[in-house]
Amino acid sequence: MNDLTTLLPTGIQIGYLVAASLFILGLKKLGSPATARNGNFLSATGMLLAVVVTLLDQNILNYQWVLIGIAIGSAIGVIIAKTVAMTAMPQMVGFLNGLGGAASALVAMGEFWRLVHSEGAVPLNATITVILGIFIGGATLSGSLIAVGKLQGVITGKPVTFPLQQPVNIAIAGAFFVSSGFLIANTGDQAAFFTMIGLATVFGVLFVLPIGGGDMPVVISLLNSLSGIAASAAGFVVMNNMLIIAGALVGASGLILTEIMCKGMNRSLISVLFGAFGGGGEATGVAGGSDSEDKIVRSIGSEEAAMMLRYARSVVIVPGYGMAVAQAQQSIQELATLLEQSGVDVRYAIHPVAGRMPGHMNVLLAEANVPYTQLYDMDDINPQFEQTDVALVVGANDVVNPGARHDAGSPIYGMPILEVDKAKQTIVIKRSLGTGFSGIQNELFFKDKTTMLFGSAKEMLGELVSEVKQL
Ligand code: NAP
Repeated sequence: MNDLTTLLPTGIQIGYLVAASLFILGLKKLGSPATARNGNFLSATGMLLAVVVTLLDQNILNYQWVLIGIAIGSAIGVIIAKTVAMTAMPQMVGFLNGLGGAASALVAMGEFWRLVHSEGAVPLNATITVILGIFIGGATLSGSLIAVGKLQGVITGKPVTFPLQQPVNIAIAGAFFVSSGFLIANTGDQAAFFTMIGLATVFGVLFVLPIGGGDMPVVISLLNSLSGIAASAAGFVVMNNMLIIAGALVGASGLILTEIMCKGMNRSLISVLFGAFGGGGEATGVAGGSDSEDKIVRSIGSEEAAMMLRYARSVVIVPGYGMAVAQAQQSIQELATLLEQSGVDVRYAIHPVAGRMPGHMNVLLAEANVPYTQLYDMDDINPQFEQTDVALVVGANDVVNPGARHDAGSPIYGMPILEVDKAKQTIVIKRSLGTGFSGIQNELFFKDKTTMLFGSAKEMLGELVSEVKQL
């Protein structure tokens, strides 16, 4: 028995070490589509190990309850994974992210409560970490829920602005700061504690409301990073190394992802958070502006487009948000397979911010079993467009707009793009000349080498498949 009591703490520390290693290995593997599934599995195993070890370490629950918890959690996970549509993934991630913030806030609240009741006072270091946990956790929860509402269309995707918005936000943050000082001076004061929870929640709502629906992935990624920092803070509150490590990893990776997205859009984080840019996230409208009315647009039918593709030596497919909306990934794969069988070299070009969330296109194409080896990053594929016979753009708009290279007045000026205009021919499948996320007209549609195949992506690809079969 004695041996067991001395062995247990060592076993627990080893469990934490293994879990932390699994997190790091998992994150590394998540960096490539080919190893991402494996990485996800390793990270999830690390999390399971960390949770089980913690529960056993603190004698919080016995084996039976741990097993029941795992069974219920796994069942919920399986149901969610099977039922949530691929296009609803950003909402799903946002929701789970909000729960992460809630968990951090709950840890902080629980610890505050425990110290007040068991010791009558809360030490300064614990009070500071509790304050951090409440602020970041509370704001992450309410901010994420607003983000989910915007992505789901329950709340308007347009930036919600009102007079004196920023001063109001600053006043709320200031009130939180003052309440924090009060709580530090009057350790354990419950009125200040509850006021702070309310202020943090309201701050999260007001912070996210003025941001456009299309920018929600960046906001979610940032809030995700903050929830990691909140978890780390909670780790200091309860003196748990695992929570500190896991929180720091989430915090750092969330920040890196936020930076990648901002770079891909060529926008600063400040402009995303305070620029009130972007609308409801779905492209609407027809050819915008009078200048587009003067320009010539070449449009073709699916029969002619099928011939161009079938008799090309090389085709590069460029998917975008429209492919996700139309759920056309399976049809793309079907067309690509047919072309390959006819001897055409088919590749896919993936822009880092195509779609509405990081990795959006990779996930959809993986779902349709497109081989990873055919997916090319922007920097790798761009030099190849000049030798490409046909670039087939499916529901992409901003990420192929050549105006980003030279139009200094454009909101996407400087954003790196997929240079499809350099291919020998470009076919664009979309429903109209309507704009994309940035709301600006695309000069690609009016270029000599561009032909438009108007229609919804899935329908048009279906027609192309049957036309190619007949050739
Ligand atoms: P986009 O510029 O938003 O354009 C999407 C196009 O899809 C629209 O012009 C629309 O044209 C077309 N479309 C919609 N439904 C369709 C359907 N059923 N069939 C065929 N086409 C359809 O998309 P993108 O080129 O992928 O660019 C992504 C944009 O989102 C960038 O501006 C990026 O900065 C921004 N963004 C991305 C992320 C991210 O993490 N990926 C995050 C935040 C913001 P029609 O209406 O004419 O059909």
